[in-house]
Amino acid sequence: VNKYSHIPIGIVSCHGDLARWGKWPKPLVGIQCVDTIAVATTGRRVDEDTIPMSEPERHSTPMLDELENGPWPSFVSGIKRLRDEHSQERVNGVANDLLGQLEHSYETRKGYWKGGTVSVYGYGGGIIPRFSEVGQQFPDSKEFHTLRVQPPAGNHYTTDILRQLADSWEKWGSGLVTFHGQTGNIMFIGSTTENTQNFFDEINDYGFDLGGAGPCVRTAQSCVGASRCEQSCTNEHRIHRQLVNNFTDDVHRPALPYKFKFKVSGCPNDCMNSIERADMA
Ligand code: SF4
Repeated sequence: VNKYSHIPIGIVSCHGDLARWGKWPKPLVGIQCVDTIAVATTGRRVDEDTIPMSEPERHSTPMLDELENGPWPSFVSGIKRLRDEHSQERVNGVANDLLGQLEHSYETRKGYWKGGTVSVYGYGGGIIPRFSEVGQQFPDSKEFHTLRVQPPAGNHYTTDILRQLADSWEKWGSGLVTFHGQTGNIMFIGSTTENTQNFFDEINDYGFDLGGAGPCVRTAQSCVGASRCEQSCTNEHRIHRQLVNNFTDDVHRPALPYKFKFKVSGCPNDCMNSIERADMA
């Protein structure tokens, strides 16, 4: 259900979670709300008392709105989609306050994020902590940490695993994600301190691990290599995996005076930009 407009944004049939609850006998579930109809969209149960009767305040964003003009896709439009169309109220609220704080930054020409110390049990890095200095005005995004997560060798994902990662992130985080950041990591942007641990526990269960941040061995990266490229002169993914396995302790517990990076390219074309970006290419 769209928190702000109450417009129907999709339809589900009753074969999934709704059917298992046994309370939704018809394929289409409609609940009268003010003068519109709210429709269950994602398999989550919708009760009348969960539907807000008055619209929560959206932050006005005239300066950010300007960034939606022009030929390029706009990150502002992306965050607005999370605010207006995502099925979870928590995600709507986080996106709304994030936009509010960003507009406030543009108005005052100041940044309001400060760092701190956040990690998961047993690790000393991998999270980029961000706490808002204007959290009282924008409480839903007052903790907005980024998790760096290591990509598989050659960036080979199945669509199933991408969906699984996205579902986990929408469950615990803001829904904002970058594939991949300059460091090579998947950047999951925007979680509270508490949910940082919850998200990590969930993705770690199905095989993903945090990357490096701070003065440590950083996340390694390898080109698509022998699996798909005829230029390949070596087994890039094996090299990548060996490096990660040998240095994983130094990735998670920063103990160096400065960061150290490995990137693996399989031939002199250097698609990973190893020579420019890494300490060992
Ligand atoms: S670095 Fe070489 S082997 Fe690797 S993807 Fe590029 S061209 Fe292929």
